Amino acid sequence: MIAFADCQDVRKMTVIREIDCPVCGARDGIEVFERENQTVGDSVCDKCGYTIPEGVVLDLFLEDNVPGRTK
Ligand SMILES: [Zn+2]
Repeated sequence: MIAFADCQDVRKMTVIREIDCPVCGARDGIEVFERENQTVGDSVCDKCGYTIPEGVVLDLFLEDNVPGRTK
């Protein structure tokens, strides 16, 4: 059982978040996998195809990369 400990730890650290698409506004339109606060794999909006790339910090990425959004 000890041999599987690492795998289970990694799985535990992976979080799935559903967010509203910042571009088209689709409710829970994007399913984002996060591990250690970074995205895992590309996350694509079902409706408009807006893509969040792998390896970014989701909250920071959304702040800096939403078209047409003003701070
Ligand atoms: Zn969208």
